[in-house]
Amino acid sequence: MPGSGGVVYCDDSVADETSHHTVHRAWFCERCGSPLAWTEIEGRPRQQCGGCGWVVYVDPKVASGVIVTWDDGVVLLKRAIEPGYGKWVFPGGYTDAGEPTTVAAVREAEEEVGLQVEVLDLVGVYSYCGERVVLVVYDGRVVSGEPCGNEESLDVKAFPVDQIPWDELAFPSTREALETWIQKTGQRP
Ligand SMILES: [Zn+2]
Repeated sequence: MPGSGGVVYCDDSVADETSHHTVHRAWFCERCGSPLAWTEIEGRPRQQCGGCGWVVYVDPKVASGVIVTWDDGVVLLKRAIEPGYGKWVFPGGYTDAGEPTTVAAVREAEEEVGLQVEVLDLVGVYSYCGERVVLVVYDGRVVSGEPCGNEESLDVKAFPVDQIPWDELAFPSTREALETWIQKTGQRP
């Protein structure tokens, strides 16, 4: 957990059929087609196939994001989709299997805010108990283009650091990454 500085343990009991974030929502075995059932394996609730015994181990989802400035402001988009509808976030999204996180960050910037960017340094990696997504965030630089959104955003704006809408950010990782980025890049309000 960023900022805590200590050892943190997650409550694994949240990983059951009621958890929407860490469960792969499937009812049949992808290997043999038999029904899956919940059972406890090595102390954790997991889905297992009643036919072939295959156990569903849910992998993390890797997402990549990039923080860039335009006209001395941090480029943020206002999300037009859940989760985080109507809230602000820097461009980012899921990384495809086989796609480097740096490439995904560049692709998302172009798709989401219309900017061709290059990736500079790593800002940080953000993950949370009970959440499936692991977010990798880079500092970046605009190479060309002008900020413009797509159908997944209500608005795109470049916020001077002292005008970042801290109370209207989409995710805990959005705040933490922006705070780290401000520290690392020496941007001060
Ligand atoms: Zn099976």
